[in-house]
Amino acid sequence: MSQFQYVCGECGFRTSWTTESQGAQWQESHYAHRHPGIPPGGTVRVRERGRSGGGGGGGCLGLVGVLFLVLLAASTCRGMTRATPEPAGVVWVVGH
Ligand SMILES: [Zn+2]
Repeated sequence: MSQFQYVCGECGFRTSWTTESQGAQWQESHYAHRHPGIPPGGTVRVRERGRSGGGGGGGCLGLVGVLFLVLLAASTCRGMTRATPEPAGVVWVVGH
């Protein structure tokens, strides 16, 4: 099972390692409170839990990335119809 950590692109705030949906909520609420008007962005770090070795799973992570982008698009569309037009870039860091 993958764990996710979201690092704020504005101030360096980072969430705990958690699930993707929980982390996205934390990131979203952090931006809402600390950086109103700025679309959620920054860095998403992913790590595998429950597997000590092994470096595979690239296809799985790719799928997760797509899911996250969909999620991000949905959340930005919801709250940002009049704010900044372009969502901030999201940088993926895949930890091993
Ligand atoms: Zn921040």
